[in-house]
Amino acid sequence: MWDFRTEPEFQAKLDWMAAFVRDECEPLDLLFPRPGDPYDVQNKASRAILAPLREKVKEQGLWACHLGPELGGQGFGQLKLALMNEILGRSQWAPTVFGTAAPDTGNAEILALYGTEGQKARYLQPLLEGNIVSTFSMTEPQGGSDPKEFVCAATRDGDEWVIEGEKWFSSHARYASFFIVMVVTDPDAKPYERMSMLIVPAETPGIEIIRNVATMNERDDLDEGTEGYIHYNQVRVPLDAMLGAPGEGFKVAQSRLGGGRVHHAMRVVGKCQRAFDMMCERALSRRTQGKLLAEHQFVQGFIADSAIQLQQFRLLVLQTAWIIDNEPHGAARTHIAMCKVALAAVLHDVLQRAVQLYGSLGTTQETPLGPWWAYAPQLALADGPTEVHKAAVAKGMLRGYSPAPGLFPTEHIPTRRAEARARYAALLEEHGL
Ligand SMILES: Cc1cc2nc3c(=O)[nH]c(=O)nc-3n(C[C@H](O)[C@H](O)[C@H](O)COP(=O)(O)OP(=O)(O)OC[C@H]3O[C@@H](n4cnc5c(N)ncnc54)[C@H](O)[C@@H]3O)c2cc1C
Repeated sequence: MWDFRTEPEFQAKLDWMAAFVRDECEPLDLLFPRPGDPYDVQNKASRAILAPLREKVKEQGLWACHLGPELGGQGFGQLKLALMNEILGRSQWAPTVFGTAAPDTGNAEILALYGTEGQKARYLQPLLEGNIVSTFSMTEPQGGSDPKEFVCAATRDGDEWVIEGEKWFSSHARYASFFIVMVVTDPDAKPYERMSMLIVPAETPGIEIIRNVATMNERDDLDEGTEGYIHYNQVRVPLDAMLGAPGEGFKVAQSRLGGGRVHHAMRVVGKCQRAFDMMCERALSRRTQGKLLAEHQFVQGFIADSAIQLQQFRLLVLQTAWIIDNEPHGAARTHIAMCKVALAAVLHDVLQRAVQLYGSLGTTQETPLGPWWAYAPQLALADGPTEVHKAAVAKGMLRGYSPAPGLFPTEHIPTRRAEARARYAALLEEHGL
């Protein structure tokens, strides 16, 4: 059964979302445009605009849609969530307005999966209500892609864990109410069993933010940076601050990323679609050499290549979501890695063409294209570099193959021709061949 249609009732919800994001969320993007703004819970002006918008989202039953029914969500399933995230991706603020912004979504996921009742009441509930934000603190200054390089450690002292070490790129740490920190608790264990997760409230003594590192889209001189470089300086937490069992840190980290990557990929589709819309409008609006940009073949190439790439990517992401919904757990792993690789490349290519088509205006901060373009390198790194996910795709693919049984490949033409001749020997001889 193949069917690309959306049920009319669900399409009505998507239509409501599209109009709401355009009319109500995009103004927030314009008034509070810095990447950290949606996470700044202390900004009274933005929160005053946000609160009634969130109420409208709740009235529609669209709040925190990523949650399963056991946590108060609607249980939409990944395919519907993908279509919804495509719309949310058009606006920087939309995920916050709809209660589904990273990294809080992933942090909520692991709190729900591994948290004790006490941890859920203290951290998960306010997170789900959107009253606080949180940080996932895993990457270290000397190593990101490979958790085996992590050294930030927690040692046991009586009935407390004492954390000592540095973390790097702990997104939105400056706004967070608590941090989920990955620490080495058993350096002698097997590589993937050395680490555990600890939940650390932001007010705990010893959390020193060395710098709020600014990305390309942020101004360091205006203190806009959102990536926390943190020294956990003899930070003490009680033993029951552990999320999951000792040694389960890697397992916990892995379990927060599956569905989130699909949502993220669809948000990239939404952002690229908006850039594509801008590209087409510009091509039909501006003239050079006596004709519209749209009539120049290079420009037609930009438009065609972008449309084809975007459509291929969109279908890949939707199929991945479908596999998660319909196949056994884990069946979509290779597809999720494919989406992660493709999202950075597609955004890079579509935005590069859009900026080029806009000419000098494209290089300014007077359209959204510039900040989106500068986002491309981040996409190829956040949540693991492209190269690591490509290796995962290749491993997943190779699992379905075996070595050739003999000296030559199974597609070796002389060998196969000899087999074919043997099969039809009598007939071939009869016809003199
Ligand atoms: C915008 C953004 C937000 C982030 N938010 C968070 C966060 O909230 N919490 C957090 O803990 N971390 C966060 N990170 C960090 C992110 O997880 C790391 O950047 C990522 O894991 C890569 O680590 P690294 O930057 O140390 O690069 P490195 O590990 O130094 O890798 C550098 C390069 O080496 C190459 N490379 C690395 N490994 C391999 C390999 N196995 N095979 C081939 N080539 C390889 C790749 O080209 C890679 O890009 C964020 C990063 C970004 C950009």
